Amino acid sequence: MEYNKLSTICVQAGYTPKNGEPRVLPIYQSTTFKYDSADTVGKLFDLQEEGFFYTRLANPTVDCVEKKIAALEGGIGAMCTSSGQSATLLAILNICNAGDHIISSSAIYGGTTNLLAVTLKKLGIEVTFVNPDATKEELEVAVKENTKLYFAETLANPSLVVIDIKLWAEVARQNGVPLFIDNTFATPINCRPLEFGANIVIHSTSKYMDGHASALGGVIVDGGNFDWNNGKFLGLTTPDESYHGVIYTEFAGKAAFITKARTQLMRDMGVMPSPNNAFLLNLGLETLHLRVKRHCENALIVAKWLSENDKITWVNYPSLEGNKYYALAKEYMPNGTSGVISFGVRGGREAAMKFMDQLKLAAIVVHVADARTSVLHPASTTHRQLSDEQLISAGVSADLIRMSIGIEDVADIIADINQALDSVE
Ligand SMILES: *Cc1c(COP(=O)(O)O)cnc(C)c1O
Repeated sequence: MEYNKLSTICVQAGYTPKNGEPRVLPIYQSTTFKYDSADTVGKLFDLQEEGFFYTRLANPTVDCVEKKIAALEGGIGAMCTSSGQSATLLAILNICNAGDHIISSSAIYGGTTNLLAVTLKKLGIEVTFVNPDATKEELEVAVKENTKLYFAETLANPSLVVIDIKLWAEVARQNGVPLFIDNTFATPINCRPLEFGANIVIHSTSKYMDGHASALGGVIVDGGNFDWNNGKFLGLTTPDESYHGVIYTEFAGKAAFITKARTQLMRDMGVMPSPNNAFLLNLGLETLHLRVKRHCENALIVAKWLSENDKITWVNYPSLEGNKYYALAKEYMPNGTSGVISFGVRGGREAAMKFMDQLKLAAIVVHVADARTSVLHPASTTHRQLSDEQLISAGVSADLIRMSIGIEDVADIIADINQALDSVE
């Protein structure tokens, strides 16, 4: 049975046990699968029959989670990876070769910036970073003959910039290239980028999807809504010699992108998640709709409380009225953005560090988007090599505290912040 309500998909989609089978998605902790005839195995390799044969390519536990995430995003297929980083890497390499070009929003996750600007550059793929608030004209000016995709985050980590997905999708479509969206922070509960014209959606499932900071993971979702037959994507429309000449757009039709990602790139690069991690991810997904709602409710209450506190110099939360991205957030994420907020403490860097040391419930960790409230002071940790001037140009002021609001009782979260602020005088 297919479901179309997100809450039901979270709980029910992907795995439907038959009579007498385990009620809970089993962990198929097996690298390989047994067959009675050599001919069947040959047919599996030729993609003539469906079935599992080696966990680097597909595994029943992972497969169920992929089906659930594809349904959550409204895509036609999905492939899980061992991390968010590997999801981004494989998605890009699936249509980019040395000599190709990418246009990316500059407001993206730091790990993705490194991947695009340093590692992909070494592989011969060039990137142009554009302002996330770019106009249609500015987005178009960046296009070159060899441009293969646009890349942006729905809700950027850590700047919380909101992208105008419809605008980016329109420019991408008019230039014959797909729009890739990293939807990690918003999650499909708050935003489904494919509905606004995006073509490929990526997640670090290590964040809200897992939700408990237990299992690293990533996923690529194929919207099945891009026509690859425009002469720019030869890897999808001409024979793959490493797979006895299969032409992905002919063999897999709308699912060409995700089929190639698995049969070619996952085969060669092997960044599959373990069945055990897929099991943990599935448990997380079962409550995603409840947790995301609670994260957003709590974060809005905390953001409002902070904005009225005279020890706080500024608050950045897109769902807070007056925020630069309030209108875009309401348009694309009407039910809430995420549990992540950032703010400044009066007294700058020293006050920020002192404040953090006094927190008791909120833990200092290099992670966001799990059930427990956590904090990070980028200027003294992830960005500590930068001078104060460099910090400002990176959008990270010396007083900036990033807080990932958890799903505890919000009164306890505020009480903790309040007592820590009291100690900063
Ligand atoms: C964390 C994160 C990533 C990288 O994911 P990992 O699972 O840590 O590899 C990519 N994009 C965004 C927006 C993230 O927050």
